[in-house]
Amino acid sequence: MTNRKTEPALHTLAVRGGEPRNHGYSAVTVPIVCTATYSFDSSAQIHDHFQGRSERWEYGRYGNPTVRVAEQKLAALEGADDAVLFPSGMSAITSLLLAMLKPGDHVVMTSDCYRRTRQFLRTTLAKFGVRHSFVPPDDLAALAAAIEPTSTRLIVTEAPTNPYLRVVDLRGIVEIKRRFPGIKLLVDATLATPALCRPLLLGADLVTHSCTKYLAGHNDVLAGVVCGAQPLIDALRDARGVFGGMPDPHGAYLLVRGMKTLAVRMRQHNESALAIARFLEGHPAVERVFYPGLPSHPDHALAAALFRGGFGGMVSFHVRGGLEQGASFIDASTLPNICPSMGGVETLMEQPALMSFYELSPQQRAEIGIAENLIRLSVGLEDTQDLIDDLGQALSKMR
Ligand code: PLP
Repeated sequence: MTNRKTEPALHTLAVRGGEPRNHGYSAVTVPIVCTATYSFDSSAQIHDHFQGRSERWEYGRYGNPTVRVAEQKLAALEGADDAVLFPSGMSAITSLLLAMLKPGDHVVMTSDCYRRTRQFLRTTLAKFGVRHSFVPPDDLAALAAAIEPTSTRLIVTEAPTNPYLRVVDLRGIVEIKRRFPGIKLLVDATLATPALCRPLLLGADLVTHSCTKYLAGHNDVLAGVVCGAQPLIDALRDARGVFGGMPDPHGAYLLVRGMKTLAVRMRQHNESALAIARFLEGHPAVERVFYPGLPSHPDHALAAALFRGGFGGMVSFHVRGGLEQGASFIDASTLPNICPSMGGVETLMEQPALMSFYELSPQQRAEIGIAENLIRLSVGLEDTQDLIDDLGQALSKMR
């Protein structure tokens, strides 16, 4: 009698999920199928295809075998019926919102969500008559109050949020959503990854990722995905064929290869980030650390209940001082790359006031809660102590 679970573990899903044992030509790994179109042998085959009697490829904008394997692996990792891949995270989110929403619809979004997603709501969707409300990530009463029963179509949140790593009570949001049957919940789980949290299994309707980050994991490819129930994904796949945001098979290959090590990478990201967060919290040149794994984080209990295996690889913190002190700390570091983005094997560090929010004035940054002395660290897979030593020497040189 074996003790086999019905669902394979994350490590197995990452390596094997969504892939046949043999990819053709006896190949163990997925071939990169570079073709813009697919040839029919006869008119009879065309009839079979369009009348649904055969499953096959038709044209490159509608599908690609390498891309399909990436989609199937993502669906397996999220526990979704299916997934649809896009050339970037923003392409995934914007395509989904454009495909789902119509003039007069209303969206409720937690306010610490990725900046460009909020911008898309405020600019493009507003132009098309789609309205929105932003609510604080820790205020479920405000979220419930913002819902307009006849026009809210979507609640959007992140797990955890970027850059302050707030952990939203997904179970609580699912409870609220259940009171309004027409409303769907979309979770951007880029920072959590399926290693920490699988929102669909908690009752969310749709999950999106910037696969550019932890899923691909090597800072070498842009991609995005939406996972969910079959009818929603089928509709979005049709929309992708019209919008035209089809990922390249080379990128899809890199994503598939990257995802195979997701479970082991996340284990190390979790471990190193926690050690670094603890080190920073004890350092006199650091004012405050934001890491959901620390008891000092406002959402620590929520994170402990929601996440499995750890608290992720991102650490945000305020250095003592302002913009100049933060910049001098970054300049004194030697190991992390000074970069936007996150989730790869190389440690990346940025001061949001001098990178992602550069064009805003200090006052505008303050209004949206971005402190001048905030540093965002994406902890990579270098040796943990080497990273701590480098951060320590940079903090000691801070002006
Ligand atoms: N969602 C989150 C949480 C992000 O941090 C980002 C990018 O940083 C995106 C979406 C957009 O992803 P991409 O850069 O792949 O378009």
